Amino acid sequence: MSSPYKSSSSSSPPHSPTQLNENSDGAAERRLREAEYRLREAIEELQRRQRCARRLHPPCEHADESCIANAIGNLCQTFLLSYGVRVGIGIFLRAFKLARRRSYSSLLDLKQLVSEKDLIVREEACRIGLLFGGFTGSYHALRCLLRKWRKKETPLNAFLAGSVAGLSILALDDSNRRRTLALYLLARLGQCAYNSAKSKNKFHLWGSHWRHGDALLFALACAQVMYGFIMHPESLPKSYQDFIQKTGPVAPPVYKAVRDCCRGFPVDVASLSAYLSNRRDSNSVKLDEFPSIIPCSIIHPDTKSCLAHNANAASATFRKTFPLYFSLTFVPFVVLHLQKFMDTPVHTCWYAVKGAVRSTTFLSAFVGIFQGVICLHRKVASKDHKLVYWVAGGISALSVLLEKKGRRGELALYVLPRAGDSLWYILVNRHLLPNIKNAEIALFCACMGGIMFYLEH
Ligand SMILES: [Zn+2]
Ligand SMILES: [Zn+2]
Repeated sequence: MSSPYKSSSSSSPPHSPTQLNENSDGAAERRLREAEYRLREAIEELQRRQRCARRLHPPCEHADESCIANAIGNLCQTFLLSYGVRVGIGIFLRAFKLARRRSYSSLLDLKQLVSEKDLIVREEACRIGLLFGGFTGSYHALRCLLRKWRKKETPLNAFLAGSVAGLSILALDDSNRRRTLALYLLARLGQCAYNSAKSKNKFHLWGSHWRHGDALLFALACAQVMYGFIMHPESLPKSYQDFIQKTGPVAPPVYKAVRDCCRGFPVDVASLSAYLSNRRDSNSVKLDEFPSIIPCSIIHPDTKSCLAHNANAASATFRKTFPLYFSLTFVPFVVLHLQKFMDTPVHTCWYAVKGAVRSTTFLSAFVGIFQGVICLHRKVASKDHKLVYWVAGGISALSVLLEKKGRRGELALYVLPRAGDSLWYILVNRHLLPNIKNAEIALFCACMGGIMFYLEH
């Protein structure tokens, strides 16, 4: 703006010889400068007013459609997407089931693959669609509403809209699933808040400068999960119980006997002796209805040596889980990086094997150490205590140090919500925590608000 005036004023004086001319030139220059100054001020004033108006009436980002149309569009889009994904997963699982039955021809038969009788996902897919679609739709509608109503765009808007839209979790009817979801979000929110505070250098959490803070977090979570598995298996979801049961070397009746023994309840001698009679070396074991501790000879009836038992348990876990882990690292890599795989197949296979060996070793070490701590306790103590299982879970979780550094935090974030779930259940059951109805909905709403806040800012 100012450059043309300046150049004209500096180029005019040289060819004017007289005093008068110089005087009038000076006056003209002054007037020009004044005009330029006023113009600049006027432009700044105009910009200030525009900024003010924008703050008072911030525009929506969806310029070409109305707020309602935008919200409904978002709702439908997300609903259809989540509905489709849920149905797709259902079909995939059904195909997996058929393939396991080795009826490969039926995979191509649509009637067997997607018939209404076998593929019961409609209600579930609707609920998932309503959860996600309802959330996005109402979130966008509320953002627009708050923007107009409060006449400004602040971080509070995102938080408020996210919390209220979080009520869409009511689309799920199972309060256990709602609680699990809320706790997952809580863990994610904690991660967001922690990362944000750390990047701003605002504060350092206790232990955040430790190199192994993530391993410690994982250990605490595992301690709770293993304690929950032994003492309150109903506090864990069925799939989790099955996974731990299958990975570990001990039979279900023994877990039940240990639980009853710790609580001072009578041990179910009949089922325990039925289990032992199928094993060798079982005749020497004397069964008692109120034992002070379940001895090693019942926990591992197949071998007398604790060391051999622990080594067997670890290697059995390795053999059982290696194929699974290998396919879990190999298949996604090949699918995602097909070109890379074609270029260097040997390197890719080596990479997958290395990753699978590492993860399987971690899991096997976990099982071996857990059994080791239990056996060690039986060597030094004559009375059982339930906290032993909490401590054993924590110690065995240190095997996570075998995993890659980046995976440790991920694993911790994966187990943490389960641990919180189990702890919540136990505390409510003991009346240490009031059983507030629908507390998980409030938690979900608050977490959703927090997450939207971090997402937008
Ligand atoms: Zn709008
Ligand atoms: Zn033992």
